[in-house]
Amino acid sequence: MKIAVIGGGASGLTAAIAAAKNGAEVTIYEKMNRVGKKILATGNGRCNYTNMNLSFECYHSNNLKLAETALNFFDLNKTLTFFEDLGIHPYVDESGKVYPNSLQASSILDVLRYEASRLKVEEKTDFNVTGLRKNKDKFSIIGNDTITADRVILSTGGKASPQLGSDGRGYEIAKSFGHEIIEPYPALVQLKLSGRYFKRIAGIRFDGIVKACAGENLIREEEGEILFTDYGVSGPPILQISRKVIGELNNKNKTYLFIDMFPNYSKSELYDILQDRFRRVGYKTMEDGMIGFINKKLIPVILYEAGFGDLNKQCGNLNKKDIYKIIDILKEWRFEVTGYNSWSQAQSTAGGVKLSQVNPKTLESLKVKGLYFAGEILDVDGDCGGFNLQWAWSSGYTAGYFCSII
Ligand SMILES: Cc1cc2nc3c(=O)[nH]c(=O)nc-3n(C[C@H](O)[C@H](O)[C@H](O)COP(=O)(O)OP(=O)(O)OC[C@H]3O[C@@H](n4cnc5c(N)ncnc54)[C@H](O)[C@@H]3O)c2cc1C
Repeated sequence: MKIAVIGGGASGLTAAIAAAKNGAEVTIYEKMNRVGKKILATGNGRCNYTNMNLSFECYHSNNLKLAETALNFFDLNKTLTFFEDLGIHPYVDESGKVYPNSLQASSILDVLRYEASRLKVEEKTDFNVTGLRKNKDKFSIIGNDTITADRVILSTGGKASPQLGSDGRGYEIAKSFGHEIIEPYPALVQLKLSGRYFKRIAGIRFDGIVKACAGENLIREEEGEILFTDYGVSGPPILQISRKVIGELNNKNKTYLFIDMFPNYSKSELYDILQDRFRRVGYKTMEDGMIGFINKKLIPVILYEAGFGDLNKQCGNLNKKDIYKIIDILKEWRFEVTGYNSWSQAQSTAGGVKLSQVNPKTLESLKVKGLYFAGEILDVDGDCGGFNLQWAWSSGYTAGYFCSII
């Protein structure tokens, strides 16, 4: 049986291997000049390929229940074994994120390509698939050439990071067979915030807590390294909350971030520290009196935000109310979210091919027999931390396995 895998990313490579193991004749059609370009960019070049704390709560979809079968079919243990069998020794960090012990994303791509080639999977790169047709029992894959196949796996990814190949073309192919697409939007992306001073504080990093609120309601809270940028904020906790925040923005809800720059201190502990500090350096201006406590570039910004127009006021003259005004900013700095970065900065796609139009067990289309889906093209996305690649492996293996059973 001839199987065409359209898109040689994480899910497509896994699907190709699973299908070839079942004896199918598999060809991957990849529009870039090599397969797996996005894999090389994952995990800052280290590839966080799964997570020991895998759970369904880390996934999002309009019909998540339908993704569970694939996640169970090729679960965490099967994924770890699959990669160990290919030569990947796992390195697990303190939070449960799993990387290859080499800490090189290229190791993951190397072993997948090696296995695919061992199983005689053919790679056709620089092959941009522009359309797909079905005539009787055969598919015609239209691109640089027109090729026929018995079954097709569509694994073209979503729209995140189109510079790495995934530009949303797969949605058009799915639509041509009557599939509906849940409107995609960037997930795991940096947020733009209101404020005139971001250029001055860009580059400052700290370990903090970010709370995202839609109006008054807390929608997600995350902790970790936060980075101020010239447009707003970035860093793992920001990426993590971005999906919920963008969902609210898309619904035209006002959304705010509250940033705690001192998560290890209560307000009253901070008060004791600042009061003692201002007593010791009471002869200095407020601006000078904060040097050595927070990043110097932040000092005037924090003091203005706290409502002080005159930064030359002496530290020794600050009363309890004044000190609490500073603490309120350090512990609960409030920003309105005004937008988010573009697809080219996003790591994942929310939305995609509707799961209710796909057989949840096999990932075969319910609209056209012989067409299967795998990976980010489907309406499933995961949190930051290895969950998106896990979905790519799970859905890829599922589609490849069932597609190749006669
Ligand atoms: C910078 C970055 C870092 C990330 N880090 C992590 C991480 O550490 N851990 C994690 O779990 N997830 C991470 N992700 C997310 C993860 O990489 C993706 O969710 C995953 O790669 C999706 O796999 P996929 O096979 O569905 O799609 P993709 O990997 O996007 O692959 C789709 C492939 O299809 C090809 N293609 C598209 N259209 C066509 C066409 N018309 N014809 C032929 N070929 C086509 C593309 O060129 C591409 O090679 C990261 C993403 C980015 C951008």
